[in-house]
Amino acid sequence: MDPDECGIPVVLTADDVAKLNAEPRHAHEVQPVATCDLEGGHPGEHHAYLQETANRTGWWVRWEGNGFGGAYVLEVLRHCHLTRSVPYEDWTDEEACLLWRGHPGRCDF
Ligand SMILES: [Zn+2]
Ligand SMILES: [Zn+2]
Repeated sequence: MDPDECGIPVVLTADDVAKLNAEPRHAHEVQPVATCDLEGGHPGEHHAYLQETANRTGWWVRWEGNGFGGAYVLEVLRHCHLTRSVPYEDWTDEEACLLWRGHPGRCDF
Protein backbone atom coordinates (compact mmCIF):
# COMPACT_ATOMS: atom_id res chain seq x y z
CA MET A 1 0.00 0.00 0.00
CA ASP A 2 1.14 3.51 -0.82
CA PRO A 3 2.03 5.31 2.46
CA ASP A 4 0.11 8.38 1.21
CA GLU A 5 -3.12 6.39 0.94
CA CYS A 6 -5.93 6.63 3.46
CA GLY A 7 -5.97 2.83 3.96
CA ILE A 8 -9.08 2.62 6.17
CA PRO A 9 -10.51 -0.92 5.75
CA VAL A 10 -14.03 -2.11 4.93
CA VAL A 11 -15.32 -5.69 5.26
CA LEU A 12 -17.46 -7.02 2.40
CA THR A 13 -20.11 -9.70 2.73
CA ALA A 14 -19.37 -13.15 1.29
CA ASP A 15 -22.29 -12.68 -1.14
CA ASP A 16 -20.82 -9.47 -2.52
CA VAL A 17 -17.34 -10.98 -2.86
CA ALA A 18 -18.87 -13.91 -4.79
CA LYS A 19 -20.87 -11.54 -7.02
CA LEU A 20 -17.81 -9.42 -7.86
CA ASN A 21 -15.69 -12.48 -8.60
CA ALA A 22 -18.41 -13.72 -10.96
CA GLU A 23 -18.07 -10.63 -13.20
CA PRO A 24 -17.42 -11.84 -16.76
CA ARG A 25 -14.56 -9.36 -17.19
CA HIS A 26 -13.15 -9.76 -13.71
CA ALA A 27 -9.45 -8.98 -13.58
CA HIS A 28 -8.49 -10.38 -10.18
CA GLU A 29 -9.86 -12.05 -7.06
CA VAL A 30 -11.73 -9.67 -4.80
CA GLN A 31 -10.78 -10.10 -1.15
CA PRO A 32 -13.25 -9.78 1.76
CA VAL A 33 -11.37 -6.77 3.16
CA ALA A 34 -10.70 -3.72 0.95
CA THR A 35 -8.80 -0.56 1.91
CA CYS A 36 -9.48 3.04 0.87
CA ASP A 37 -7.47 4.08 -2.21
CA LEU A 38 -7.82 7.83 -1.72
CA GLU A 39 -5.16 10.24 -0.56
CA GLY A 40 -4.80 10.30 3.24
CA GLY A 41 -6.96 12.98 4.90
CA HIS A 42 -9.40 13.15 1.97
CA PRO A 43 -12.88 14.70 2.46
CA GLY A 44 -16.08 12.64 2.20
CA GLU A 45 -16.58 8.92 2.06
CA HIS A 46 -13.88 6.27 1.70
CA HIS A 47 -13.62 4.49 -1.66
CA ALA A 48 -11.87 1.29 -2.68
CA TYR A 49 -11.54 -0.18 -6.15
CA LEU A 50 -12.79 -3.77 -6.30
CA GLN A 51 -13.17 -5.18 -9.79
CA GLU A 52 -13.12 -4.46 -13.49
CA THR A 53 -16.51 -4.53 -15.22
CA ALA A 54 -17.54 -3.10 -18.60
CA ASN A 55 -15.10 -1.10 -20.70
CA ARG A 56 -13.44 1.73 -18.75
CA THR A 57 -15.59 1.22 -15.67
CA GLY A 58 -15.09 -0.68 -12.45
CA TRP A 59 -16.86 -1.73 -9.28
CA TRP A 60 -16.10 0.46 -6.30
CA VAL A 61 -17.19 0.32 -2.69
CA ARG A 62 -17.79 3.51 -0.71
CA TRP A 63 -18.43 3.81 3.02
CA GLU A 64 -18.25 6.12 6.02
CA GLY A 65 -16.35 5.66 9.27
CA ASN A 66 -14.01 2.75 9.93
CA GLY A 67 -16.02 0.28 7.85
CA PHE A 68 -15.86 -2.68 10.24
CA GLY A 69 -19.35 -4.13 10.31
CA GLY A 70 -20.77 -0.90 8.94
CA ALA A 71 -22.88 -0.18 5.90
CA TYR A 72 -21.30 0.26 2.50
CA VAL A 73 -22.47 0.88 -1.06
CA LEU A 74 -21.25 -0.91 -4.18
CA GLU A 75 -21.36 1.07 -7.42
CA VAL A 76 -19.98 1.07 -10.95
CA LEU A 77 -17.92 4.17 -11.76
CA ARG A 78 -15.98 5.32 -14.79
CA HIS A 79 -12.21 5.31 -14.45
CA CYS A 80 -10.40 8.66 -14.15
CA HIS A 81 -7.79 7.60 -16.71
CA LEU A 82 -5.91 10.86 -16.61
CA THR A 83 -2.35 9.99 -17.53
CA ARG A 84 1.09 11.35 -16.91
CA SER A 85 4.21 10.77 -18.95
CA VAL A 86 7.10 9.07 -17.22
CA PRO A 87 10.33 9.60 -19.16
CA TYR A 88 12.96 6.89 -19.21
CA GLU A 89 16.33 7.07 -20.95
CA ASP A 90 15.15 6.40 -24.48
CA TRP A 91 11.39 6.05 -24.24
CA THR A 92 8.38 7.47 -22.40
CA ASP A 93 5.81 5.47 -20.49
CA GLU A 94 2.24 6.57 -19.77
CA GLU A 95 0.83 5.87 -16.33
CA ALA A 96 -2.95 6.07 -15.85
CA CYS A 97 -4.72 7.15 -12.67
CA LEU A 98 -6.56 4.16 -11.19
CA LEU A 99 -9.21 6.16 -9.33
CA TRP A 100 -12.66 7.03 -10.68
CA ARG A 101 -13.62 10.08 -12.71
CA GLY A 102 -14.25 13.08 -10.46
CA HIS A 103 -12.38 11.71 -7.43
CA PRO A 104 -11.18 14.16 -4.74
CA GLY A 105 -7.50 14.72 -4.08
CA ARG A 106 -4.53 13.87 -6.23
CA CYS A 107 -4.51 11.33 -9.01
CA ASP A 108 -3.17 7.91 -8.08
CA PHE A 109 -0.21 7.67 -10.45
ZN1 LIG B 1 -10.38 6.95 2.92
ZN1 LIG C 1 -7.26 10.72 -11.30
